[in-house]
Amino acid sequence: MSQNNQATTLPSALYVVAMPIGEWTDLSSRAINVLDRVNVILAEDTRVSGQILKFVNVSTRMVSLNAHSEAGKADRVIESLELGQSLALISDAGTPGISDPGRLLIEKVVEKGFQVIPVPGPSALTAALSVSGLPAAPSHFFGFLSTKSSAREQELERALSYDGTLIFYEAPHRIVDFAERLDRTACGRKVVFARELTKIHEQLIRVVAGQCADWFADNSDRIRGEFVVLVGPGSADRTQSSVDATRILRVLARELPPSKAAALASEFTGVPKRILYRQLTGETEA
Ligand code: SAM
Repeated sequence: MSQNNQATTLPSALYVVAMPIGEWTDLSSRAINVLDRVNVILAEDTRVSGQILKFVNVSTRMVSLNAHSEAGKADRVIESLELGQSLALISDAGTPGISDPGRLLIEKVVEKGFQVIPVPGPSALTAALSVSGLPAAPSHFFGFLSTKSSAREQELERALSYDGTLIFYEAPHRIVDFAERLDRTACGRKVVFARELTKIHEQLIRVVAGQCADWFADNSDRIRGEFVVLVGPGSADRTQSSVDATRILRVLARELPPSKAAALASEFTGVPKRILYRQLTGETEA
């Protein structure tokens, strides 16, 4: 990796630079300065980053480093650091290493004793949590759940057993599936869908699990965009009632038709009948 023509390059290190998550003016002046003064920028997608770098007049040479090439390119990055070069790592949006490439490279750079310097800024994770109105501590970040149905179910169940706020990333084509799963498994817990943060169609949807899928069903435009999903902590009572509801429902459903089982479980626990019915059958009651 060769040096660019900057006369005032930065001290040798790997600079991990946060990029905007939608609003380009969120790129900090320190980030611009670092991107301008490093020898090389390691970018997840050079075309995507090229647009924003042009916007801020940064012409530093870019080299692609994505999830597929990360491990393979680490040795070359280390060689550059050994030569005294400075490198910036950026991803398409937000902070590298947060559900984005970076961790493997950083691990290797640290192992070799080179400096890794954060240039903090936007991340969908902190942006969503900061406006959620849900407790930040304790909170647990799960990134993307598996795309496979049974693994997804298990991961979500495990996540729901943690105390505190739960934070997930989700793609638009799986958001309805996610909403339906939350309705079935997180009865009564507060849910925030943070959609398209910092963009024109930014929206914060605050619902209660049991109403999540309905919110998306009301308008198919709501499925578009990028989402962070936050689930509030189950209060001791609510968690208890949701656990009991599932248990009671299963016992009743052994002897009764779904509609009757859901009605009785609802009476016992206070969880709405339609949620319990959907939990049993996967369908909305006629
Ligand atoms: N590294 C990024 C960060 O720091 O937020 C996350 C990258 S991850 C590949 C992309 C996911 O982040 C999206 O699928 C979505 O869940 C979330 N995300 C990114 N930008 C977002 C935005 N503007 N609004 C809501 N969620 C966003």
